[in-house]
Amino acid sequence: MQRVHLQGIAKNFGGTNVLEQIDLTIEAGEFLVLLGPSGCGKSTLLNIVAGLEEPTGGRIHFGERDVTDLEPDQRDIAMVFQSYALYPTMSVRQNIGFALKMRGLSKVEIAAKVAGVAKLLQIEHLLDRKPSQLSGGQQQRVAIGRALVREPQVFLLDEPLSNLDAKLRADMRVELKRLHERSRRTTLYVTHDQVEAMTLASRIVVMNKGRVQQCDRPEVVYAKPANRFVAGFVGAPT
Ligand code: ADP
Ligand code: MG
Repeated sequence: MQRVHLQGIAKNFGGTNVLEQIDLTIEAGEFLVLLGPSGCGKSTLLNIVAGLEEPTGGRIHFGERDVTDLEPDQRDIAMVFQSYALYPTMSVRQNIGFALKMRGLSKVEIAAKVAGVAKLLQIEHLLDRKPSQLSGGQQQRVAIGRALVREPQVFLLDEPLSNLDAKLRADMRVELKRLHERSRRTTLYVTHDQVEAMTLASRIVVMNKGRVQQCDRPEVVYAKPANRFVAGFVGAPT
């Protein structure tokens, strides 16, 4: 597991500062949740960690390694998005194993790793189905499996539950928590949902307008909000 360190990250889109001076550490093995309203810069920051966007300023380290100028495929990350486009013509088994096939692993190795992830996510009975034969929640589990099977140093999730209904969201929160307890991957998880953040996070980073407002354990953010924005957004009753 690897620690992720962001130092002075800034991002400017067409003259607008979307991120300003972000300093953050995701400790090795921790589940850090980026929480903030729509448009505050969460996805931009996640994409910068992934290497999908280039920061206007600042450096990113994974452990001792400066990855700021590396492409996504050189960073040892895996990402899950809100819309989990699975390969429609492939079975679940093939969807999960695809990245390993590209890496040149043998059939036996792929089968073993796919089986391990399927067990972890409780989708063993779905391996021979096509995505169209799955529910939304099952499809999202496959998308998570497809990312996890690559055994990334850093696991990035951008609002992965937003497209699911309330009941499934609640189930998946529990699943994700269990999954992290078992795998202990260094995780950065983006959401605008306070309940998700409170349930999942080892620490929460509250963002607004491209700036970090507070970074602390959920119970501290809740009980001792750093400012009015945090108090209003996280909603400690006054
Ligand atoms: P969040 O994920 O918190 O909803 P985003 O990181 O997607 O926020 O967006 C932050 C701000 O940056 C928004 O105002 C958005 O319109 C703007 N933005 C995001 N991506 C781009 C882009 N590629 N070009 C221009 N502006 C962008
Ligand atoms: Mg977003």
